[in-house]
Amino acid sequence: MLIIRSVKQLVKAIDRLKKEKKRIGFVPTMGFLHEGHLSLVRRARKENGCVVVSIFVNPIQFGPTEDFARYPRSISRDRQMLEKEHADILFLPEVNEIYPKGFNRYVQPGLLAKGLCGRKRPGHFRGVTTVVNRLFELVRPDRAYFGKKDYQQAKVIEAMVKRLGVKVKICLCELIRDFDGVAISSRNQYLSPEERIRAKALYQSLKKARRLIQSGIKDISHIRSELEAFLKAHVDQIDYVEIVNSENLKPLKRISGRVLVAIACFVGRTRLIDNRVIKG
Ligand code: AMP
Repeated sequence: MLIIRSVKQLVKAIDRLKKEKKRIGFVPTMGFLHEGHLSLVRRARKENGCVVVSIFVNPIQFGPTEDFARYPRSISRDRQMLEKEHADILFLPEVNEIYPKGFNRYVQPGLLAKGLCGRKRPGHFRGVTTVVNRLFELVRPDRAYFGKKDYQQAKVIEAMVKRLGVKVKICLCELIRDFDGVAISSRNQYLSPEERIRAKALYQSLKKARRLIQSGIKDISHIRSELEAFLKAHVDQIDYVEIVNSENLKPLKRISGRVLVAIACFVGRTRLIDNRVIKG
């Protein structure tokens, strides 16, 4: 696996791959890799001649009170995991490579970024669309892989690519859960053993949502209050519990078609998200 730290070197390597007519599959990450990330890498490996993975903790997608400085990092472990998955290139840029002096090509995230995490984390999705667009320009992938763990992010990126006419296929990958149902996340490592047990409540509340919806209940405010009451018993703070249209992410009053149930909660100081698409 080639490890590349500079934009100049990356551009050269990608030029070479393009000349060889290799299909490039790209997996952007913030590192501290786990089975969720690896599921994306494995799919990219199957579907492309060349796999590029980036690890970049993007400062502009973190709010001033968020965990940028303490975000977990473990490059040597990540590197070994990617070697095992036969990734071809690991791109590991410093901040000044991605955002050189005078950088001003920020990308607006569009309407899909208005609700859910977008409302709770102002500026977050602008940071995400800006970095992903910049990485797309550098890596020039044929396909890029995103997890449904960050469902809204994946939808925002799909819309961005469409709007800007970027020629890349966005591939959405299933959310990977731990043995006990907890959505795997780099941030889970912040949790104490006791918090880790309470974190199960997010997944359990999604299962509850499925039961309620499949029993024929249509009134969303009723379902939300049931979920909130359940979550309150386990988590320290509910950031949001929302039920929206699974495609345009618009709020609904009644269940109709495929809905996204999306949850964000604090367990201790750690903000966790989870979601599930449910057919009404
Ligand atoms: P991150 O490093 O958290 O920015 O995540 C990088 C990519 O991995 C994003 O597309 C995430 O949605 C995806 N990802 C993270 N955790 C999971 C998971 N548990 N299941 C599926 N994809 C995931």
